[in-house]
Amino acid sequence: MTKIDSSKIGMHRQAALPPKNSNCLCGSGEKFKRCCADKLPGWQLGKRTRDALAAKDYASALVACRADITQYTIWHKTNTDPLLHSAPEAVEYFLNLDIRALTELAELLGMCYAETDKSDEFPATLEQLRLNINHPRWQRKIIYLQAFHALTADKNKRASRRELEKLGSMEFETDIEILQLYIELFHDDLTFTAKQKLVDRIILLAESAIDRLHYRCIRAIDFLLIGDMQDALQEISVAVDAYKQDSSKKADSLYERHRYTMAIGLVGRLSKEPKWTDQAIAICKDLIEEDGWTESGRADLLRQLGDEFRFKGDWVSARDSYRQAYAIQSLPILQVFLAECLVETDGWEIAANTIRTVDLIEPKSAEFVDYVFTFAYIAIAGDDKSMLSESENLLRGLSIPSPYFREQRDSLLMEVINTVRTGKSPAGTNRAHSLLHGMASTVLRYMKLEPNFMGIGINLGKILENLSKDEQAHPAKQNRR
Ligand SMILES: [Zn+2]
Repeated sequence: MTKIDSSKIGMHRQAALPPKNSNCLCGSGEKFKRCCADKLPGWQLGKRTRDALAAKDYASALVACRADITQYTIWHKTNTDPLLHSAPEAVEYFLNLDIRALTELAELLGMCYAETDKSDEFPATLEQLRLNINHPRWQRKIIYLQAFHALTADKNKRASRRELEKLGSMEFETDIEILQLYIELFHDDLTFTAKQKLVDRIILLAESAIDRLHYRCIRAIDFLLIGDMQDALQEISVAVDAYKQDSSKKADSLYERHRYTMAIGLVGRLSKEPKWTDQAIAICKDLIEEDGWTESGRADLLRQLGDEFRFKGDWVSARDSYRQAYAIQSLPILQVFLAECLVETDGWEIAANTIRTVDLIEPKSAEFVDYVFTFAYIAIAGDDKSMLSESENLLRGLSIPSPYFREQRDSLLMEVINTVRTGKSPAGTNRAHSLLHGMASTVLRYMKLEPNFMGIGINLGKILENLSKDEQAHPAKQNRR
């Protein structure tokens, strides 16, 4: 990155304040004079927002966050914008910084809207924010933010896809957040090669070791899904080694340790080497003890701990972890995994009752695959005629896009049919049980969006703490003003 002499690009020009009667730069739709004019934070940018969020005073946080956006935009319009078209190379660095800062502030604003029950108003606000930076990359970022909002706040994947499609081809896209969201939304429609190309680009563009680790793991899972176990294992070993040697790695945050334990859990599952699973269990246990998790973040860790114990065959510990996770967040999938453990710990009757009481699971989800597989295993283990016939139907009706899980489905179906014909055998029950180890949602969970975006599962206060540390450590931000 070239160093820029700030005196040459007019850092001391007069502030580009908006006319008092114009729309405020925060996107509220109010006039500037009635909105942020008297609340501009100056060099204290971010402080009031952080304090209000730490105190859970979301209404004040919203007001402060709006003023932050207006302040930052004024700085942008004063310093960067005048040179955007006459000397674009000179301000490239600052333009990137401005886009990044305003994106972070807009994401924070979205959170404040959500916390004050104003999520419905956020898309209109984003449209207003289009005007804040007059550059095509910012226009694309607004589309990204709209798509992200549709997916996370509205839980509307279709609307999110529609929005992101507006960006057209991804062939030359270099915005890592856009690429990440694109893969999340269009994963199932992409060919293996197209997906790997996008993932390779993300690995190249990624700024942190933990992001590179995450995307190398995704590349490994893609090999697994086409049934190429050898390349999957090779990829994931390289991923973990590269992460360990990555010199840019900073002090491990909660987020990074969580990501790391998920990755090595995956290594354990693919390599079947117990040392990885044991290590994942140890880190998971430490992490659970830490402060700073949200309820769902803690439940998620307990679920992973349950997964690792289950994979290891430590059924009692697995059962207890799932029960603890379920007490915090009653997700049906936890009951599914619990039922598998109960066959070993509490007896077949209790396991069968548990799997029968699982709430409805979305039939096209990875969780449903796990439900059907577990149901079939329990049917085989108990040689229960009505459950066996039900699982045969469920397995036949299961639509699975991945060759790897399809193969497992076919093997399990064979075991069901054999049990119906010749009765149960210890060998058949063991074979059925081992087919559960590939568990769809345990593997596919890794591909989900949530962990890619900091913030989910970790307290807002913790994230803000990290952000402000980053900010202090960011020399460009200090030189800027
Ligand atoms: Zn305003």
